[in-house]
Amino acid sequence: MTGNSLFREELRGVRTVVVKTGSRILTAAGHEARVERLATDLSVLRKSGVRVVLVSSGAIAHGMKALGLSKRPTEIPMQQACAGIGQNRLMAIYQEHFAEHDTLIGQVLLTWDDLRSKKRYLNLRNTLFKLLDCGAIPIVNENDSVSVEEICFGNNDTLAAQIAMLVNADVLVNLTDVGGLYDKNPHTEKDAKHIPIVSAVVAGIQRMVSEKKSEISVGGMSTKLKAAEMVTRAGIPALIGDGFNQRLLTVLKDEASATLFLPSDKKIPSRQRWIAFTGQPAGSVTVDAGASKVIAEKGKSLLAAGITAVSGRFNAGDMVSVVNPRGDVIAKGLINFSADEVDAIRGCKTAEIEKKLGAIRFNEVILRDNMIVLQ
Ligand code: GLU
Repeated sequence: MTGNSLFREELRGVRTVVVKTGSRILTAAGHEARVERLATDLSVLRKSGVRVVLVSSGAIAHGMKALGLSKRPTEIPMQQACAGIGQNRLMAIYQEHFAEHDTLIGQVLLTWDDLRSKKRYLNLRNTLFKLLDCGAIPIVNENDSVSVEEICFGNNDTLAAQIAMLVNADVLVNLTDVGGLYDKNPHTEKDAKHIPIVSAVVAGIQRMVSEKKSEISVGGMSTKLKAAEMVTRAGIPALIGDGFNQRLLTVLKDEASATLFLPSDKKIPSRQRWIAFTGQPAGSVTVDAGASKVIAEKGKSLLAAGITAVSGRFNAGDMVSVVNPRGDVIAKGLINFSADEVDAIRGCKTAEIEKKLGAIRFNEVILRDNMIVLQ
C-alpha cells in the first residue's frame, strides 16, 4: 500500500504526519484494543513511507490508575507524581504493541522551555528528524513530572500543534472521542450535524463548541480548535477525528469520521513560525505612529528612526515585541541590536548609527523577513 492511498483526496501527497491521541482513548474501558489498533495503523503508515510523530497523553491517567485515583489531582506535585509513575507504564504498553510490527519508537519529553529557546528548538528539530531518519516513531509528551506553571503547555493539543510546525508536517491529526466538529453537541443532541470541512477557524466556530468536562484529561474541543487554527495559519491542514470508536486509518480516509481544517491562503512561512507561535519576547521596542503604520500596513522593516522607547534586557538575535504608541503589540521579530544599542540609536537616521555605535552592522533594527506582523 502506498502512503497516498491511505489518505482522503485533499491529503494526497502527505509525507509527514503528526498524530495526537488523548488520555481517554488510551485509558478508558477497551483501551487495550484501541492502543493495539493505533500501533498497527501508525506502523502501516510508517511502512508505506510516511514519516510519523505521535504526541501521546496518558501519563497522568496511567499514574492515577496505578495509584487508584478516580479524579485527576488538582495539586501540581500529585500530578507530577502520577506522571512519573504513568509515563513509563504508557511507554511499556506502546513498546509491546509497536514491537509486534518491528516498529522502533523513541520517547521525547518536553516543556515549553525546550521550544521557547531558539537554540533548543533547533536542537529538538534535529533530534526528531534523526529519529525519523532512523525509521523510528518519536512518541512525544509533556515532561509533566518536571513541568511547573511557567513552563507548562497545559494540554497536548498545543504541544501537538507546536510539533507539527517544528517538523514541518503535512497534516496534524488530533484523535479524540467524537468525529470532529458538529453544529451541536453530538453526545447530547440526536440531530447534531457533522461538519466535514472547515475552511477557516473563525470566532463563530469557537463559540459553537460546548465544553464537556472530563475527570481524567485536560483540553477539550476548544483547545483542539485553537491548535487547528494555529497550524492552518502556518499552512498545515488539520484533522480532528474519532480515535475512540474508529481507527486512525478510517479517520484519515473517511469524511464522516473527522473534520478537515484547510490551510490558510496567507500562510506563515516556516522560517517565521517560531517567531509567530513559539518564541517568547525578551523585551519590546515602542515605535511612533509613522513606523507603526508602515510596519502594520506595508510590512516594512523597522528602522531606528521610528523607535521611541526600549524595554527589557535583550541581546542581538533575541526576539522582541514591537509596540505602537497606544501600547498594542503590532509585530514580533528578531532584533539586530542589543537593548543598550537600541536605546543609543533610537530616533536616529540610519546615517547617524555609525557615529553612535562606532560601526554599522545593520541598517535595519528588525528586518522584515525576521518580523511577523500580528493582525
Ligand atoms: N501530558 C498529559 C499526560 O500525559 C496530558 C495532557 C493532555 O491531556 O492534553 O497525562
